Amino acid sequence: MIILVINCGSSSIKYQLLDMKSDEVYDLLAKGLVEKIGLPEGGITHRPTGKDKVEKTLPIPDHKVGMKLVLDALVDPSHGVLKSFDDIEAVGHRIVQGADFFSGSALVNDDVLKKIEICCDFAPLHNPAHLLGIHAVSEVLPDVPQVVTFDTAFHQTMPDYAYMYALPYEYYTKYRVRRYGAHGTSHEYVSRKGAEFAGLDINNSKIITCHIGNGSSVTAVLNGKCIDTSMGFTPLEGMIMGTRCGNVDCNVIPYIMKKENLTPDQMTDIMNKKSGFLGLSGISSDARDLDAAANAGDPKAKLVLKKLSYDIIKLIGQYVAAMNGVDLIVFTAGIGENNSRMRRRVCENFSYLGLKLDYEANMVTGKTTMLSTPDSAVKVALIPTDEELVIARDTMHIVSTIEE
Ligand code: ADP
Repeated sequence: MIILVINCGSSSIKYQLLDMKSDEVYDLLAKGLVEKIGLPEGGITHRPTGKDKVEKTLPIPDHKVGMKLVLDALVDPSHGVLKSFDDIEAVGHRIVQGADFFSGSALVNDDVLKKIEICCDFAPLHNPAHLLGIHAVSEVLPDVPQVVTFDTAFHQTMPDYAYMYALPYEYYTKYRVRRYGAHGTSHEYVSRKGAEFAGLDINNSKIITCHIGNGSSVTAVLNGKCIDTSMGFTPLEGMIMGTRCGNVDCNVIPYIMKKENLTPDQMTDIMNKKSGFLGLSGISSDARDLDAAANAGDPKAKLVLKKLSYDIIKLIGQYVAAMNGVDLIVFTAGIGENNSRMRRRVCENFSYLGLKLDYEANMVTGKTTMLSTPDSAVKVALIPTDEELVIARDTMHIVSTIEE
């Protein structure tokens, strides 16, 4: 089944075209990125498998034009990979926030669209863009079924004492204020893959997954189900991230707002886009730049990198306690897959559990690897994440059922 996987941001469309033969067997036909939608100089980078990449710069006024550009690239006579649009059998979309409406992927219909719309309040940067993507596909490919996969769905198994904030209960009933988590598709994928790779029975396992990228979260997976995760009502809660502050004493926020005369929107922008690595270091939101600066002796870059490892250590420690042990720790995403120094710092702190890091194996980047020694009491693995594959699989399963 040929499936187009779409990840729509407010000004971008990331896409992958996969030919799914089964859950495990598939071909990546093409992938690419449409950027700067709505800005004077937008563009598309299209990477067809086995052919040269194509880059074009042009104004892209809205998501519908962006989606048309993606489809045109896929059927282009020279750099395309399909004969016609009709070859696309289904479209799968990544959706950041599904709140407590969705504990799994769903076929798009009016009711599903209404619920995604309600969730826009909790993910104002993401969900409206996802809806634009779904509507753009409906206009350009009206007969193709669409499926939505939620970043929050995997976390729906959290118990109430993990997902409730100790605020007055009425804010939960009136406004759905609770913890939802994020990166669920990634945590689910790497926990399953990790269990398989480490020879564990997922139904009888204690796994902690560390998705450490631009956005970062750590999740406790007990017997294959999420029991806690570090992100909350929005992807701001938890640890330090590229531009997000993570946990802060809530009283700091009104204090700064009063001192600096800031509106709620301005403060939200500072916490989400101007904090984290960027805000603390004043250098960059990218861990590679901070590594370079720390190597050159910059004290703030060193502080950020120490805080990054420290936050991960504390989260892992909490989840070891919550699960009364841990069999496997998994690292994934941009920093998790590539930053061996961070992994070393984190793992060295768990010698009390009998965790033994294989220092040579830990130098690897970006590929599935066992990072602990054979006699380590806790296994540690690097598992590259693949959220698009999960979306394509779910889309295939859901679309196959409606066709039967
Ligand atoms: P996103 O959350 O946007 O998907 P990623 O998972 O790609 O982000 O993670 C981005 C982070 O990963 C950046 O801080 C970047 O420095 C780091 N990163 C990505 N690739 C590498 C690499 N090859 N080596 C070191 N760090 C990397």
